[in-house]
Amino acid sequence: MTDDQPALPLPSVDRVLAADAARLAAERFGRRAATLSVRARLDELRGPWRAGAPVDVSTDRIAAAALAALEAADVPSQRRVINLTGTVLHTNLGRALLAEEAVAAVVAAMRSPTALEFNVGDGRRGERDDHVRGLLRELTGAEDAVAVNNNAAAVLLTLNSLAEGREAVVSRGELIEIGGAFRMPAIMARAGCRLVEVGTTNRTHLADYAEAIGPDTALLMKVHPSNYRIEGFVKEVSAKALAPLARERGVALVDDLGSGVLVDLSAYGLQRERTVQEAVSDGADLVTFSGDKLLGGPQAGLVVGRAELVKRLAKNHLKRALRLDKLRLAALEATLKLYRDPDRLAARLPTLMLLTRPAQALKAQAARLRDAVARAAGPDYVVEVVDAASQIGSGALPLATIPSGGLGVAAVDPKRSGAALTALAAILRQAPTPIIGRIADDRLVLDLRGLDDEAELDASLAALAQTHAEAAE
Ligand SMILES: *Cc1c(COP(=O)(O)O)cnc(C)c1O
Repeated sequence: MTDDQPALPLPSVDRVLAADAARLAAERFGRRAATLSVRARLDELRGPWRAGAPVDVSTDRIAAAALAALEAADVPSQRRVINLTGTVLHTNLGRALLAEEAVAAVVAAMRSPTALEFNVGDGRRGERDDHVRGLLRELTGAEDAVAVNNNAAAVLLTLNSLAEGREAVVSRGELIEIGGAFRMPAIMARAGCRLVEVGTTNRTHLADYAEAIGPDTALLMKVHPSNYRIEGFVKEVSAKALAPLARERGVALVDDLGSGVLVDLSAYGLQRERTVQEAVSDGADLVTFSGDKLLGGPQAGLVVGRAELVKRLAKNHLKRALRLDKLRLAALEATLKLYRDPDRLAARLPTLMLLTRPAQALKAQAARLRDAVARAAGPDYVVEVVDAASQIGSGALPLATIPSGGLGVAAVDPKRSGAALTALAAILRQAPTPIIGRIADDRLVLDLRGLDDEAELDASLAALAQTHAEAAE
C-alpha cells in the first residue's frame, strides 16, 4: 500500500455475518465455518485493492461469496459424474453401478448390527464368507469359495497360499499389466513365488508347460489377457488342455479370468465370453475373478474351486488383511442373488441393463437431447446425432465394441478444432453433475450407453446453457 492510498473501507466481520447469506451459511455449515469464510473473503479483497483494482465491499456481496465458497467446499470430493465415455465399466469412474437390491442391502447393513460372523441358529461364531459361499457354489458349480478385497488380492492370496517359496508357471503371452499397476510378475514376487516363464510372446505349447514342471513347481497359471490381444501367428494352450497335465503331474491349475461372467452373454445379444462355470468345469483347481467388472457388483475378488485349496486360502493370515467388510459383503450377496433369475437379470443389474440397451433407443435418446447439448455447447459448435461404438471396459472383451448412439460435437472452425474440443470437454466437466465424454476423430462424442439418468443430464446441460446466457448479457 502506498502512503497516499486510502485504507480499504471494509465492513466488519460481524456486520457481514448479519447479512442474509451469511446467516444462511451459519445455519447450514456452522457459525465457526461461516466466520472463517467471511474473514477469508475480506482478506481476498486486499490484494486487488492494493493493485488499484475496483473492489465491491458491499456486505451482501461479501456474505454471498462466503456462502458460495462454503457450498463449493461442501461438494463431495468423490462426486457423481455422468459417464458418456462409451466405456461402461470405467475403472476411473468406479466401474459397476450397483443394483437397487444391492444398494438396499448396503444401507440396511450400515444402519444396524448384522450377523456378519455370527450364526443366528446356534449362537456360535460364524464366518463372514458364509454369506456368499453357498451362492457362489450354486452359481459356479465350484466346491467352495472365498471373497476378498479385489481380484488383485484374490490372485495374491492364491499365489501366496499355494506357491510361496515355490514356482508358478505362466506363459510369456499372459504376463500382462493391467490398469493401476497390476503386473503379474510383480504380484508373483509379492506373493513370494518364483515365476517360471514358458513359451514366447505369441506362441506357447502344451510341451512348454510340461517341460517347465519340476520338483519345485506348485502351480500352472492361466491369465486372461484382458486389455490386449495378440493377433496373427498365435498359439495358446487352453485351461481345458492344461488340466490333465496339471492333474497328472500333481500341480494346481489356477485360472485368472479377470472380469468373470456368470451368464452366457450371447443370450443377451452380446459377444460370448467364457464363463466362470466353464472355467470350473474345464478343470481349473481355482478360478479368480472380480466383483465389480461384468459381475456388476461391488469391488471384490472371488476365488472359487476345490475345497481343500480354498481352505488353504481361508486359513492364510493374508486373508485377514484382504477380507471384505460387511457393506460390500451385503452388496455382493444381494447382487449374486439376482443371478438366480436370469430372465430378469438385464432389468435389474445396471451393468447388463446398460450393455444391452439397443443402439436405436440410444439414438432416439440422443435426438431428444440434441438441442440441450447444442445450447450447452454454445454457438462455436455443431451437434449431431451419431453412431457410436461402446466398450464393456475393465478388460472384458477389449476388441469387441457394442453399437451405440450418442451426440457428436464438432467445432465450427475446423482450424481450432483441437483446442475447441479440449475447451468444450472442460466446460462439460464444470456442469453441476460433471459430464465426461470422449474426444475422437475431431469430435467430442457423448456416448449415451453409460447414461443412467437422462433427467440429470438434461438438468446439467440446462445449467451450462444458463451460464452462457448470463455471460452473453
Ligand atoms: C482386472 C483384472 C485383475 C485385477 O482385478 P481387480 O478386481 O481390478 O483387482 C486381475 N487379473 C485380470 C486378468 C484382470 O482382468
